[in-house]
Amino acid sequence: MSELPADLVSYSRPVRCIHWSNSESGVNAVTVECEDGERISADHVIVTVSLGYLKKHHSTLFSPALPDQKLQSIQKIGFGTCDKILVEFESPWWDADCEIIYLVWDDEEDISDHVSDISKNWIRKISSFTVVTPSERGNHVLCGWISGHEAEHMETLPEEEVRRCITELIHTFTGDPSI
Ligand SMILES: Cc1cc2nc3c(=O)[nH]c(=O)nc-3n(C[C@H](O)[C@H](O)[C@H](O)COP(=O)(O)OP(=O)(O)OC[C@H]3O[C@@H](n4cnc5c(N)ncnc54)[C@H](O)[C@@H]3O)c2cc1C
Repeated sequence: MSELPADLVSYSRPVRCIHWSNSESGVNAVTVECEDGERISADHVIVTVSLGYLKKHHSTLFSPALPDQKLQSIQKIGFGTCDKILVEFESPWWDADCEIIYLVWDDEEDISDHVSDISKNWIRKISSFTVVTPSERGNHVLCGWISGHEAEHMETLPEEEVRRCITELIHTFTGDPSI
């Protein structure tokens, strides 16, 4: 950012409406209307607001409305919960060059068929642990990834219960009860 001219980026400048046209004419084909009333002309505009914002505000953010095909895509694409669980260990039990640990179950139980048992099976949805680069304190931290309804369930549990389940999980996968 320090290499960019000082006045190139505008901050705290919500956009109210993007006036665009389907024509191929090019020059100044788009006008960006800000909440404060300022209007900025441009040849092209790249919009990078989040999907949630688009779902809620596409009808007022664009004039004219976006083409049907784009609106259908915005409606069809979804998103869900993804949580990170940070666990700290007194000493690392993984190899020094390890970056990620994947957990693969070899029994035939399919967690997606056991939604009603989510309270028992949520831990199986932890797909991997990424190794967090040690800080100056030299702590040993793994980041566990969990998504979907299991993540939502995990969020309702007391931290102590999450800790107990993760410890048990690691004991199961490493076969080392001393971790
Ligand atoms: C809790 C959490 C943890 C995450 N962890 C990771 C991670 O560890 N690693 C990883 O790779 N990714 C992670 N992500 C995902 C990552 O943050 C996003 O993928 C990334 O920030 C998306 O960038 P973006 O520029 O597309 O959108 P955003 O960062 O969402 O930027 C959209 C911008 O549009 C602006 N905006 C919206 N409406 C208007 C308007 N009308 N006018 C002007 N501006 C507007 C918003 O203010 C915002 O600044 C995480 C996300 C979350 C929520």
